[in-house]
Amino acid sequence: MSLPILAIVVPCLNEEECIASTILRLLEILFDLESKGEIDKESFVFFVNDGSSDSTWNIIEKYNKETNGKIKGISFSRNFGNQKAILAGLFEASSYNADCFISIDADLQQDETKISEFVKKYKKGSQIVAGIRNDRNADGIFKKYTALTFYKIMNLLGVKIKVNHSDYRLVSKQVVDALKKFPETNLFLRGIFNDLGFNKDYVYFDVKARKAGKTKFTPMSLLSLAISGITSFSIVPLRIVTFIGFVMSFGSFILGISAFIDKLIRHNAVLAGQL
Ligand code: UDP
Ligand code: MG
Repeated sequence: MSLPILAIVVPCLNEEECIASTILRLLEILFDLESKGEIDKESFVFFVNDGSSDSTWNIIEKYNKETNGKIKGISFSRNFGNQKAILAGLFEASSYNADCFISIDADLQQDETKISEFVKKYKKGSQIVAGIRNDRNADGIFKKYTALTFYKIMNLLGVKIKVNHSDYRLVSKQVVDALKKFPETNLFLRGIFNDLGFNKDYVYFDVKARKAGKTKFTPMSLLSLAISGITSFSIVPLRIVTFIGFVMSFGSFILGISAFIDKLIRHNAVLAGQL
């Protein structure tokens, strides 16, 4: 079997403080895997600039020239959010003959030394290798508990998704092609990949503290991601709303009948006003 071409896909929003060191570290990892004969020498890193207002894209462009295209990327016209950035990165990188793709955050909080483990599992036949965090100690209290509550709600609603899932994940070209046919636009990638089928495996990793810059997620964007996750993968909220709708209309119907009877028998009417 020929060696796989690996594309590392990195979404980034205002990451000028850490992007250069991330580029160098990922190049180091690619060269190491290439020299050990684990991946093809055509492997590359693909950045998606998600509407940064700082110099992130300039730095990516500079390395693109200096590395003769080993660093590639696209730049969005505005901020579309990290899920859309990852998805666009997978789709765009797939036009460069990559066989497999690993998405990882630009701050490299996710243990990048595990990349070789993802590739090994892919070579053994897994089409989706999902990264699972060992713990949430690197998160603040708020994020830790809201994330755990989110996974509890998802599981209660019948969505069987592993707790502490992340967007650090390997997918094969076949999976990306299947994803292109997926109509979902309200994106929650962890749920979509969980749902797609294919041979799956997991890699467990530690999360480091952010090396520079601040988190790009606000409580509102996290809430919106959680709502996307819940509403796109469970019909229970829809059923609850439908049930409430039925109860309300049944109640109104009964009230209407009783007002009608009142009017007929007792000549009382429900009045909106009287002068
Ligand atoms: N990110 C992005 N668009 C956004 C928000 C985040 O591309 O609207 C990127 C960000 O640059 C990073 C990754 O998504 O590469 C994860 O973001 P961050 O590290 O801020 O999240 P946290 O680790 O705090 O959950
Ligand atoms: Mg981070």
